[in-house]
Amino acid sequence: QEKINHYRNINNITVVGRHIPDPCKSFEDFTVDNDIINNLKQCGFEEPTPIQKQAVPLMLQGRQILACAPTGSGKTAAFLVPVIQSLKGPQKQGFRALILCPTRELAKQTQRECDRLADGRGFRVHIISKIKKAMTQYNPNGSQKYDILVTTPNRLCYLLKQDPPALSLRNVEWLIIDEADKLFESGVRGFREQLTDILKACDNENRKIAMFSATYTPVVAKWCVHNMKGLVRITIGHRNA
Ligand code: ADP
Ligand code: ADP
Ligand code: MG
Repeated sequence: QEKINHYRNINNITVVGRHIPDPCKSFEDFTVDNDIINNLKQCGFEEPTPIQKQAVPLMLQGRQILACAPTGSGKTAAFLVPVIQSLKGPQKQGFRALILCPTRELAKQTQRECDRLADGRGFRVHIISKIKKAMTQYNPNGSQKYDILVTTPNRLCYLLKQDPPALSLRNVEWLIIDEADKLFESGVRGFREQLTDILKACDNENRKIAMFSATYTPVVAKWCVHNMKGLVRITIGHRNA
């Protein structure tokens, strides 16, 4: 235990919560399938970044987390690796993971990283591009050949508000909120109301939430405490509000 605490200290990892798994020193320590480890190495990555060391084993246990780590510290792979592992392979159940981003550019980058890290699995990773097309594309009576949705919140809520809703989130197992500090600040009230609607639509009993943020923001932390059972907080470096 002393050794683990020392390892967290030298990696600048602070973690608050119960029964925290040890941080992973190498990709091989992630209990994920070999293809994912190979894909990480194909990206040119040699070892996990501090946020990946602690967030990946937690999310692999299905724990709900608030992860704060600086820009450029590898937060995208920190949530994509456990999401890809837990979804296993493509299914015809509609979206099983939802990743919310503040901008379309970021959504595209996240989709690209997901395609690289899930290479070989055949997942269908979608971005809502044309809203007109989207109105019929995700028809709940259709093929449901979708696995992961990466989107900004406005267009998603627009589709959910249709009667009947133009897409279903009832099979979503992981809801990832990336750049939570930006999302919560941009809409002030707005994003919180959208998030309430999105959560209502994600009514799977196995739904878990993971929040990622570059800064530790009290409003985000407060939302997490109220809405995420068994919350674990991870901070890398200093808490800079
Ligand atoms: P953040 O979301 O924290 O700002 P990103 O996920 O965008 O950071 O990652 C920043 C850069 O670091 C990207 O180019 C990404 O490919 C790269 N990266 C991610 N994980 C690793 C790793 N384990 N080793 C080296 N580079 C990594
Ligand atoms: P984002 O890029 O953050 O998803 P946009 O404002 O670009 O948000 O929304 C995308 C599209 O969704 C808009 O062009 C519009 O057609 C539709 N849309 C979103 N919100 C509304 C709304 N409240 N009323 C009507 N259309 C909307
Ligand atoms: Mg990021």
